[in-house]
Amino acid sequence: MKETTEKAMKRHASEIEEMTARHEHEIDELRINCKHKKVSDWTKSMWATGHYGPSVKTCKNCGLVMETEEWNLEVKDGRG
Ligand SMILES: [Zn+2]
Repeated sequence: MKETTEKAMKRHASEIEEMTARHEHEIDELRINCKHKKVSDWTKSMWATGHYGPSVKTCKNCGLVMETEEWNLEVKDGRG
């Protein structure tokens, strides 16, 4: 039986979800045991595809966010 693209994508989506769930615990452990010795430079975080949040520094080993820049939502317009 031929599988539809939609079906195949659904199957893959659930597989990646399963994979993420399977490794979640390992990632937690890695972050607990990590000494966070190598920290990246400031990089833009993304809270959704194409939507950038504040700049963050993350551990190069475990990906944990080490520092978040202050993010002021009130943009100064020069009148204040
Ligand atoms: Zn780390």
